[in-house]
Amino acid sequence: MELLDGKKLSQEILSELKEKLADAKGPPPCVTFIRVGEDPASVYYVNSKQKKAALVGIESRLKTFPESITQEQLLEEIGSLNADSSVHGILVQAPLPSHMDERTVFNSVAPEKDVDGFSTNNLGRLVQEDPEAFVACTPAGIAEMIRRYKIKTEGRHVVVLGRSLIVGKPAALLFMRKDPFANATVTVCHSRTRNLSNITRQADILIAAIGQANFVTADMVSPGTIVVDVGINRVDDPSSKKGYRIVGDVDFDAVAPKCDAISPVPGGVGLMTVAMLMHNTMKAWELSQKKNH
Ligand code: NDP
Repeated sequence: MELLDGKKLSQEILSELKEKLADAKGPPPCVTFIRVGEDPASVYYVNSKQKKAALVGIESRLKTFPESITQEQLLEEIGSLNADSSVHGILVQAPLPSHMDERTVFNSVAPEKDVDGFSTNNLGRLVQEDPEAFVACTPAGIAEMIRRYKIKTEGRHVVVLGRSLIVGKPAALLFMRKDPFANATVTVCHSRTRNLSNITRQADILIAAIGQANFVTADMVSPGTIVVDVGINRVDDPSSKKGYRIVGDVDFDAVAPKCDAISPVPGGVGLMTVAMLMHNTMKAWELSQKKNH
Protein backbone atom coordinates (compact mmCIF):
# COMPACT_ATOMS: atom_id res chain seq x y z
CA MET A 1 0.00 0.00 0.00
CA GLU A 2 1.35 3.41 -1.00
CA LEU A 3 0.54 6.52 1.00
CA LEU A 4 -0.54 9.47 -1.17
CA ASP A 5 1.46 12.03 0.73
CA GLY A 6 -0.18 15.45 0.43
CA LYS A 7 2.42 17.04 2.67
CA LYS A 8 5.32 16.03 0.44
CA LEU A 9 3.49 16.86 -2.80
CA SER A 10 2.24 20.23 -1.60
CA GLN A 11 5.75 21.20 -0.51
CA GLU A 12 6.99 20.16 -3.95
CA ILE A 13 4.36 22.36 -5.65
CA LEU A 14 5.07 25.33 -3.38
CA SER A 15 8.84 25.08 -4.00
CA GLU A 16 8.25 24.95 -7.75
CA LEU A 17 6.13 28.10 -7.53
CA LYS A 18 8.71 29.82 -5.35
CA GLU A 19 11.45 28.96 -7.81
CA LYS A 20 9.39 30.30 -10.71
CA LEU A 21 8.82 33.56 -8.83
CA ALA A 22 12.45 33.99 -7.88
CA ASP A 23 13.30 35.15 -11.42
CA ALA A 24 10.15 37.21 -11.89
CA LYS A 25 10.39 40.90 -12.51
CA GLY A 26 7.94 43.56 -11.34
CA PRO A 27 5.26 43.30 -8.67
CA PRO A 28 4.59 39.77 -7.44
CA PRO A 29 1.26 37.94 -7.74
CA CYS A 30 -1.26 39.22 -5.22
CA VAL A 31 -4.28 37.47 -3.76
CA THR A 32 -6.84 39.25 -1.62
CA PHE A 33 -8.86 37.31 0.94
CA ILE A 34 -12.26 38.50 2.02
CA ARG A 35 -13.54 37.29 5.35
CA VAL A 36 -16.94 38.20 6.73
CA GLY A 37 -17.35 37.62 10.47
CA GLU A 38 -15.08 35.79 12.87
CA ASP A 39 -15.95 32.13 12.30
CA PRO A 40 -12.95 30.38 13.94
CA ALA A 41 -12.54 27.86 11.10
CA SER A 42 -12.53 30.69 8.54
CA VAL A 43 -9.99 32.66 10.59
CA TYR A 44 -7.79 29.56 10.72
CA TYR A 45 -8.12 28.75 7.00
CA VAL A 46 -7.41 32.29 5.81
CA ASN A 47 -4.45 32.51 8.18
CA SER A 48 -2.88 29.33 6.92
CA LYS A 49 -3.47 30.34 3.28
CA GLN A 50 -1.71 33.65 3.97
CA LYS A 51 1.24 31.85 5.55
CA LYS A 52 1.62 29.60 2.51
CA ALA A 53 1.40 32.61 0.19
CA ALA A 54 4.22 34.33 2.08
CA LEU A 55 6.31 31.18 1.86
CA VAL A 56 6.06 31.19 -1.93
CA GLY A 57 6.53 34.93 -2.43
CA ILE A 58 2.91 35.69 -3.27
CA GLU A 59 1.60 38.87 -1.72
CA SER A 60 -1.62 38.41 0.21
CA ARG A 61 -4.01 40.98 1.55
CA LEU A 62 -6.88 40.48 3.95
CA LYS A 63 -10.13 42.42 4.03
CA THR A 64 -12.37 41.66 6.99
CA PHE A 65 -15.93 42.79 7.44
CA PRO A 66 -18.42 42.45 10.29
CA GLU A 67 -21.32 40.01 9.88
CA SER A 68 -23.58 43.06 9.65
CA ILE A 69 -22.23 44.09 6.24
CA THR A 70 -24.96 44.00 3.62
CA GLN A 71 -24.61 41.96 0.47
CA GLU A 72 -24.72 45.15 -1.57
CA GLN A 73 -21.79 46.63 0.36
CA LEU A 74 -19.83 43.41 -0.03
CA LEU A 75 -20.50 43.37 -3.78
CA GLU A 76 -19.21 46.94 -3.97
CA GLU A 77 -16.01 45.94 -2.17
CA ILE A 78 -15.54 43.04 -4.57
CA GLY A 79 -16.20 45.42 -7.46
CA SER A 80 -13.34 47.68 -6.41
CA LEU A 81 -10.99 44.71 -6.06
CA ASN A 82 -12.07 43.57 -9.54
CA ALA A 83 -11.01 47.00 -10.83
CA ASP A 84 -7.70 47.05 -8.92
CA SER A 85 -4.97 45.95 -11.32
CA SER A 86 -2.55 45.18 -8.45
CA VAL A 87 -4.87 42.34 -7.32
CA HIS A 88 -4.66 39.15 -9.38
CA GLY A 89 -6.76 36.79 -7.29
CA ILE A 90 -9.78 37.26 -5.03
CA LEU A 91 -11.01 34.65 -2.58
CA VAL A 92 -14.21 35.08 -0.61
CA GLN A 93 -13.95 32.74 2.35
CA ALA A 94 -17.08 30.62 2.88
CA PRO A 95 -19.34 30.33 4.78
CA LEU A 96 -21.00 33.71 4.34
CA PRO A 97 -23.67 35.00 6.75
CA SER A 98 -27.16 33.66 6.11
CA HIS A 99 -28.47 37.00 4.77
CA MET A 100 -26.19 36.62 1.75
CA ASP A 101 -26.61 34.52 -1.36
CA GLU A 102 -23.28 32.76 -1.83
CA ARG A 103 -23.89 32.19 -5.53
CA THR A 104 -24.43 35.91 -6.18
CA VAL A 105 -21.32 36.81 -4.18
CA PHE A 106 -19.09 34.21 -5.85
CA ASN A 107 -20.36 35.26 -9.27
CA SER A 108 -19.44 38.88 -8.58
CA VAL A 109 -15.71 38.05 -8.59
CA ALA A 110 -14.21 38.84 -12.00
CA PRO A 111 -13.71 35.47 -13.80
CA GLU A 112 -10.01 36.19 -14.39
CA LYS A 113 -9.51 36.75 -10.62
CA ASP A 114 -11.73 33.89 -9.44
CA VAL A 115 -8.91 31.72 -8.04
CA ASP A 116 -11.45 29.59 -6.14
CA GLY A 117 -13.16 28.64 -9.40
CA PHE A 118 -16.68 28.80 -7.92
CA SER A 119 -18.23 31.23 -10.39
CA THR A 120 -20.63 30.28 -13.16
CA ASN A 121 -18.04 31.40 -15.66
CA ASN A 122 -15.24 29.16 -14.43
CA LEU A 123 -17.50 26.17 -13.78
CA GLY A 124 -18.83 26.59 -17.33
CA ARG A 125 -15.33 26.80 -18.73
CA LEU A 126 -14.39 23.64 -16.82
CA VAL A 127 -17.27 21.85 -18.53
CA GLN A 128 -15.95 23.19 -21.84
CA GLU A 129 -12.48 21.90 -20.94
CA ASP A 130 -10.99 25.37 -21.36
CA PRO A 131 -7.37 25.17 -20.15
CA GLU A 132 -7.59 28.78 -18.91
CA ALA A 133 -10.47 27.95 -16.54
CA PHE A 134 -9.77 28.23 -12.83
CA VAL A 135 -10.59 24.88 -11.30
CA ALA A 136 -11.77 24.77 -7.68
CA CYS A 137 -8.73 24.09 -5.48
CA THR A 138 -9.81 20.85 -3.79
CA PRO A 139 -10.75 18.93 -6.96
CA ALA A 140 -7.68 20.40 -8.67
CA GLY A 141 -5.61 19.12 -5.73
CA ILE A 142 -7.10 15.63 -6.04
CA ALA A 143 -6.34 15.50 -9.77
CA GLU A 144 -2.81 16.84 -9.22
CA MET A 145 -2.19 14.21 -6.54
CA ILE A 146 -3.28 11.42 -8.90
CA ARG A 147 -1.19 12.89 -11.73
CA ARG A 148 1.98 13.33 -9.67
CA TYR A 149 1.76 9.78 -8.36
CA LYS A 150 1.46 8.68 -12.01
CA ILE A 151 -1.77 6.83 -11.32
CA LYS A 152 -3.42 5.87 -14.58
CA THR A 153 -6.99 7.09 -14.95
CA GLU A 154 -7.62 6.49 -18.63
CA GLY A 155 -10.41 3.95 -19.10
CA ARG A 156 -10.64 3.30 -15.39
CA HIS A 157 -13.67 3.62 -13.18
CA VAL A 158 -13.59 6.63 -10.89
CA VAL A 159 -16.36 6.68 -8.28
CA VAL A 160 -16.95 10.06 -6.63
CA LEU A 161 -18.89 10.09 -3.36
CA GLY A 162 -20.51 13.53 -3.08
CA ARG A 163 -21.92 15.98 -5.63
CA SER A 164 -21.18 19.38 -4.09
CA LEU A 165 -20.25 22.32 -6.29
CA ILE A 166 -16.93 22.74 -4.54
CA VAL A 167 -15.72 19.14 -4.55
CA GLY A 168 -17.81 16.30 -6.00
CA LYS A 169 -19.12 17.84 -9.22
CA PRO A 170 -15.91 19.52 -10.39
CA ALA A 171 -13.92 16.40 -9.43
CA ALA A 172 -16.20 14.28 -11.61
CA LEU A 173 -15.81 16.76 -14.48
CA LEU A 174 -12.02 16.73 -14.16
CA PHE A 175 -11.76 12.96 -14.35
CA MET A 176 -14.09 12.67 -17.35
CA ARG A 177 -12.16 15.24 -19.42
CA LYS A 178 -10.90 14.17 -22.81
CA ASP A 179 -7.30 14.21 -21.66
CA PRO A 180 -4.71 11.46 -21.16
CA PHE A 181 -4.54 12.43 -17.45
CA ALA A 182 -8.30 11.94 -17.20
CA ASN A 183 -10.38 9.93 -19.70
CA ALA A 184 -11.98 8.01 -16.85
CA THR A 185 -15.43 6.50 -16.64
CA VAL A 186 -17.01 8.41 -13.78
CA THR A 187 -19.86 7.53 -11.45
CA VAL A 188 -21.12 10.14 -9.00
CA CYS A 189 -22.93 9.01 -5.84
CA HIS A 190 -24.87 11.04 -3.28
CA SER A 191 -27.25 10.65 -0.38
CA ARG A 192 -30.01 9.21 -2.59
CA THR A 193 -27.83 6.62 -4.28
CA ARG A 194 -29.08 3.06 -3.85
CA ASN A 195 -26.78 0.10 -3.24
CA LEU A 196 -23.86 2.41 -2.61
CA SER A 197 -21.47 -0.40 -1.59
CA ASN A 198 -22.11 -2.25 -4.85
CA ILE A 199 -20.97 0.85 -6.73
CA THR A 200 -17.98 1.70 -4.54
CA ARG A 201 -16.73 -1.88 -4.86
CA GLN A 202 -16.57 -1.38 -8.64
CA ALA A 203 -14.24 1.60 -8.28
CA ASP A 204 -10.66 1.56 -9.49
CA ILE A 205 -10.31 4.99 -7.89
CA LEU A 206 -12.64 6.03 -5.08
CA ILE A 207 -12.93 9.69 -4.08
CA ALA A 208 -14.76 10.22 -0.79
CA ALA A 209 -16.16 13.73 -0.26
CA ILE A 210 -19.29 13.47 1.84
CA GLY A 211 -18.39 14.88 5.24
CA GLN A 212 -19.19 11.79 7.36
CA ALA A 213 -16.48 10.50 9.65
CA ASN A 214 -15.16 7.03 8.78
CA PHE A 215 -18.14 6.39 6.46
CA VAL A 216 -16.25 4.26 3.93
CA THR A 217 -15.62 0.89 5.55
CA ALA A 218 -13.47 -2.03 4.39
CA ASP A 219 -16.43 -3.97 2.95
CA MET A 220 -17.15 -1.03 0.57
CA VAL A 221 -13.76 -1.24 -1.12
CA SER A 222 -12.33 -3.93 -3.42
CA PRO A 223 -8.71 -5.04 -3.09
CA GLY A 224 -6.33 -2.86 -5.13
CA THR A 225 -8.47 0.28 -5.10
CA ILE A 226 -6.92 3.74 -4.99
CA VAL A 227 -8.70 5.81 -2.36
CA VAL A 228 -8.62 9.59 -2.05
CA ASP A 229 -10.13 10.82 1.20
CA VAL A 230 -11.33 14.43 1.02
CA GLY A 231 -13.33 14.49 4.27
CA ILE A 232 -12.40 16.73 7.18
CA ASN A 233 -14.44 15.70 10.19
CA ARG A 234 -14.03 16.43 13.89
CA VAL A 235 -14.54 13.51 16.24
CA ASP A 236 -14.39 13.64 20.04
CA ASP A 237 -11.11 12.47 21.47
CA PRO A 238 -10.74 13.03 25.20
CA SER A 239 -7.13 11.81 25.00
CA SER A 240 -6.11 14.75 22.80
CA LYS A 241 -5.32 18.21 24.14
CA LYS A 242 -8.06 19.85 22.07
CA GLY A 243 -10.63 17.21 23.00
CA TYR A 244 -11.12 16.26 19.37
CA ARG A 245 -9.20 15.01 16.36
CA ILE A 246 -9.66 15.30 12.61
CA VAL A 247 -10.56 12.22 10.60
CA GLY A 248 -11.57 11.68 7.00
CA ASP A 249 -14.60 10.07 5.36
CA VAL A 250 -12.71 6.79 5.14
CA ASP A 251 -12.07 4.37 8.00
CA PHE A 252 -8.36 4.55 7.28
CA ASP A 253 -7.08 1.72 9.50
CA ALA A 254 -9.56 -0.80 8.11
CA VAL A 255 -9.48 0.33 4.47
CA ALA A 256 -5.76 1.07 3.95
CA PRO A 257 -4.57 -2.58 4.00
CA LYS A 258 -6.90 -3.35 1.05
CA CYS A 259 -5.73 -0.41 -1.10
CA ASP A 260 -3.03 0.02 -3.69
CA ALA A 261 -2.78 3.63 -2.52
CA ILE A 262 -4.65 5.88 -0.11
CA SER A 263 -4.45 9.51 1.02
CA PRO A 264 -4.43 10.14 4.78
CA VAL A 265 -6.36 12.73 6.79
CA PRO A 266 -4.71 14.93 7.88
CA GLY A 267 -1.73 15.10 5.54
CA GLY A 268 -3.59 14.47 2.30
CA VAL A 269 -5.96 16.48 0.13
CA GLY A 270 -6.24 19.42 2.57
CA LEU A 271 -2.66 20.47 1.98
CA MET A 272 -3.04 19.99 -1.77
CA THR A 273 -6.00 22.38 -1.70
CA VAL A 274 -3.89 25.24 -0.33
CA ALA A 275 -1.07 24.48 -2.78
CA MET A 276 -3.52 24.63 -5.69
CA LEU A 277 -4.77 28.00 -4.49
CA MET A 278 -1.21 29.28 -4.86
CA HIS A 279 -1.03 27.60 -8.27
CA ASN A 280 -4.26 29.34 -9.32
CA THR A 281 -3.02 32.73 -8.08
CA MET A 282 0.15 32.28 -10.07
CA LYS A 283 -1.92 31.36 -13.11
CA ALA A 284 -4.09 34.50 -12.68
CA TRP A 285 -0.94 36.60 -12.47
CA GLU A 286 0.59 34.95 -15.55
CA LEU A 287 -2.62 35.39 -17.55
CA SER A 288 -2.83 39.07 -16.56
CA GLN A 289 0.78 39.60 -17.66
CA LYS A 290 0.06 37.89 -20.97
CA LYS A 291 -2.96 40.14 -21.48
CA ASN A 292 -0.95 43.28 -20.78
CA HIS A 293 1.79 42.52 -23.31
P1 NDP B 1 -21.34 18.98 1.17
O1 NDP B 1 -22.04 18.79 2.46
O2 NDP B 1 -21.56 20.21 0.37
O3 NDP B 1 -21.68 17.74 0.22
C1 NDP B 1 -21.69 16.44 0.70
C2 NDP B 1 -22.09 15.50 -0.39
O4 NDP B 1 -22.06 14.18 0.13
C3 NDP B 1 -23.50 15.73 -0.91
O5 NDP B 1 -23.54 15.57 -2.30
C4 NDP B 1 -24.33 14.64 -0.20
O6 NDP B 1 -25.42 14.18 -0.96
C5 NDP B 1 -23.31 13.54 -0.09
N1 NDP B 1 -23.61 12.65 1.03
C6 NDP B 1 -23.82 13.01 2.31
N2 NDP B 1 -24.10 11.90 3.05
C7 NDP B 1 -24.04 10.85 2.20
C8 NDP B 1 -24.21 9.46 2.35
N3 NDP B 1 -24.53 8.92 3.53
N4 NDP B 1 -24.10 8.66 1.27
C9 NDP B 1 -23.78 9.19 0.06
N5 NDP B 1 -23.60 10.51 -0.14
C10 NDP B 1 -23.72 11.33 0.90
O7 NDP B 1 -19.80 18.78 1.50
P2 NDP B 1 -18.48 19.26 0.69
O8 NDP B 1 -18.47 18.67 -0.65
O9 NDP B 1 -18.30 20.69 0.87
O10 NDP B 1 -17.36 18.55 1.60
C11 NDP B 1 -17.28 17.15 1.73
C12 NDP B 1 -16.21 16.82 2.75
O11 NDP B 1 -14.96 17.29 2.26
C13 NDP B 1 -16.38 17.49 4.12
O12 NDP B 1 -15.86 16.65 5.12
C14 NDP B 1 -15.52 18.73 4.01
O13 NDP B 1 -15.07 19.18 5.28
C15 NDP B 1 -14.39 18.20 3.19
N6 NDP B 1 -13.68 19.23 2.43
C16 NDP B 1 -12.33 19.15 2.43
C17 NDP B 1 -11.58 20.05 1.75
C18 NDP B 1 -10.11 19.90 1.74
O14 NDP B 1 -9.41 20.84 1.46
N7 NDP B 1 -9.60 18.70 2.02
C19 NDP B 1 -12.20 21.19 1.04
C20 NDP B 1 -13.64 21.13 1.00
C21 NDP B 1 -14.34 20.18 1.70
P3 NDP B 1 -26.68 15.14 -1.35
O15 NDP B 1 -26.17 16.00 -2.46
O16 NDP B 1 -27.72 14.19 -1.79
O17 NDP B 1 -27.02 15.90 -0.11
